[in-house]
Amino acid sequence: MRAALLREYQRPLELVERPEPEPGAPRDVVVRVGGAGVCQTDLHAIDGLMEAAGVRLPLVLGHENAGWVHAIGDGVTTAAVGDAVLVYAAYSCGLCVPCRRGLDMHCERGQFAGLTRDGGFAEYVLVDERSLLELPPGVEPADVAPHADAGITAYHAVKKLLPRLEPGSTAAMIGVGGVGHVALQLVRVLGASTVIAIDTDERRRRLARELGADEVLGEEADVVGAVRELTGAGADVVFDFVGTDATHAAGLEMLARRGVYSVIGYGGTISLPSVGMIATETAIAGNLVGSWVDLWELLQLHGRGEITLRTETHSLGDVNDVLEKLRQGEITGRAVLVP
Ligand SMILES: [Zn+2]
Ligand SMILES: [Zn+2]
Repeated sequence: MRAALLREYQRPLELVERPEPEPGAPRDVVVRVGGAGVCQTDLHAIDGLMEAAGVRLPLVLGHENAGWVHAIGDGVTTAAVGDAVLVYAAYSCGLCVPCRRGLDMHCERGQFAGLTRDGGFAEYVLVDERSLLELPPGVEPADVAPHADAGITAYHAVKKLLPRLEPGSTAAMIGVGGVGHVALQLVRVLGASTVIAIDTDERRRRLARELGADEVLGEEADVVGAVRELTGAGADVVFDFVGTDATHAAGLEMLARRGVYSVIGYGGTISLPSVGMIATETAIAGNLVGSWVDLWELLQLHGRGEITLRTETHSLGDVNDVLEKLRQGEITGRAVLVP
């Protein structure tokens, strides 16, 4: 099969021929990839920043995978060849305490498709039966592949702050990219906050308006001042989908008293005087992907047409061009590779 291999850091992916994976363990499932989303984390992996997360080379990237069941191991009981499936990227054992709490992404024996084992920038990907989610009728794999990371991360971050997204509150969202554009819709569908979307790119600001943001900022030099002008007290919740030193600082500055700063994008360092944090009862929340159930719930919303994914498809052979476009901020929504 064809696969895009990360053989060396800071080098383009290599398109190589590899043996097709086969079910080895009883719960193994081979999925024929119908679409694989391209994520900022892929760039972090290429840049050599994901060794702490378990990345070892060579590696086939791709953690936002969907497709059709192609082959199954002897013990598989919940999937059959031909089923259309979305693949939950975090492998979980089902036996440890975090797994039994439903926090699959904190599994003590956890693995992650496309980071700690080969992912879906290929024609086939080997997964565990526990990772599969059946697609709702009429939903095509390439249309929902990005939910496996972008969507689920948005859902997990928004769902856990729902008690703070009450009527009369304001949620500010920094970055309307692959994750942010899903989160914006989820705040509107699940919460009751006024939504202020912030992005430096006019195409993404337009997308935010199309998706129903109440206010769209990002052109002005003083975005924090603009948020304060709109809200008076500041934003009750700030979701940061970018995660640079600059957005960390701005996100914290635009918070209202008792505000929650929710960090989804990453890469920068958060710096905050503790005395100010005490005086305002500021809380900071980190977010790691989400649970299998988070993804399942999100898929039900998608199946009912309550949220959409903005995607553009490219062929797997164009993977390096797509990665470069993402690096340059030239992707609106999510790019999906089709083998
Ligand atoms: Zn990702
Ligand atoms: Zn576990």
